[in-house]
Amino acid sequence: MALKLADFKEQIHNDWCPGCGDFGILSALQSALAELDLKPYDVVIFSGIGCSGKLPHFVKSYGIHTLHGRPLPYALGAKLANPELEVIAVSGDGDGLGIGVSHFIHAGRRNVDVTYIVHDNGVYGLTKGQASPTLKLGVKTKAIPEPNINDAINPIFLALSSGATFIARGYAYDIKHLKEVFMKAIKHKGFAFVDVLQPCPTYNDINTKSFYSGEDRLNPVTKKPRPRVYRLEDMGYDPVVRPDMTKEQVMAKISKVIELSLEWGDHIPIGVFYQNETLPTYEQRLEHRLRTYLSNPPAKQKISTSEGYPAADITEILQELAV
Ligand code: SF4
Repeated sequence: MALKLADFKEQIHNDWCPGCGDFGILSALQSALAELDLKPYDVVIFSGIGCSGKLPHFVKSYGIHTLHGRPLPYALGAKLANPELEVIAVSGDGDGLGIGVSHFIHAGRRNVDVTYIVHDNGVYGLTKGQASPTLKLGVKTKAIPEPNINDAINPIFLALSSGATFIARGYAYDIKHLKEVFMKAIKHKGFAFVDVLQPCPTYNDINTKSFYSGEDRLNPVTKKPRPRVYRLEDMGYDPVVRPDMTKEQVMAKISKVIELSLEWGDHIPIGVFYQNETLPTYEQRLEHRLRTYLSNPPAKQKISTSEGYPAADITEILQELAV
C-alpha cells in the first residue's frame, strides 16, 4: 500500500517559532519520502546542532540528533555500513558550513550516496541570531550590532568545487517545488546537496518571506510583487551531465553552474543546478576493491556467535595493549 505524508509525521510537540521556514522543509521532506514510497524503517536522518537539528524528531523514521557540525560523518558511516538504507543528513548553515564545513567538502569528493539538506537562513537561530557563514558582507540583521564584517560562503559554488554530483537549491515557502527537488536528490546516485533558503522570522529581518517574494519591488504596471526567487526549470535550464557529452560540453555546463551560483539580489535561482551520474559512487569504487562489499556489507556481517560471544577474535590486539 502506498504511503501518505501522515505516515512520516511524528506527533510530538514542535517549538520552532511560528512562521519559521523549517516547517516548510519538514513538510516537503515528509511528502517526498511518502511520494517515493520509502518505508520509514528504511530511512535514517541525521542532524547536527541548531534549530534544524530538531528535524529528525518530527519524522517517523530512524533518526539521530548528533553533535555540532557532525551529521555528515554519521550519515556516511551509516550508508557505508548498510548501503540499503536511504540516508539523509540535515544541518543549518552555521552547523554545516561553519564547524562542519570540512565534512561537506570531503563528502563531495567521496560521492557517497547520501542526501544532504542545509537549512540556510544566514543566522545562528538557536543562539539568538549571530551572523552565520552564509550572511552576506555588509548585511545588518536586527540581531547583530554592526553590519556583517565577513563575506559569505557560496554553498552552491563550494559544493561544485568539492565534487558534489547533485547540487540544488530550494525555497522553504515553495513546498511543492521543494518536495520535487528533494525527490530528485534522494533518487540521485551519489552525494546530493540541497541548499534551502529558509527564512528565520525571529532573527533575520532582511532575508524574509517578503524579500524572497519581492514585496518591496512592485511591477510598475500591475503593482504586483516581482518575486526574486525563480525556478530554473521554468527557464528551460537543463542541469544534467550525460555520458555522451564532450569535455567542452561538460565544461560549458560547469561554467553555467558557476554563473548561476553567483546570481543573488533581484534574481535568485532555485531548482537543480547540476546533476552528474557519470561518476562512480564511493560504494561502487569500494565494491571494485571488495567484490563482496554490496552483497555482504558490514551491517549484514555476523558479529556474535549463537552463544552471544563476539565472532571476531581480538585476543591478539588486547595482548599487545596489555602492559
Ligand atoms: Fe526558525 Fe529562527 Fe525560530 Fe530557529 S530562531 S526556530 S530558525 S524562526
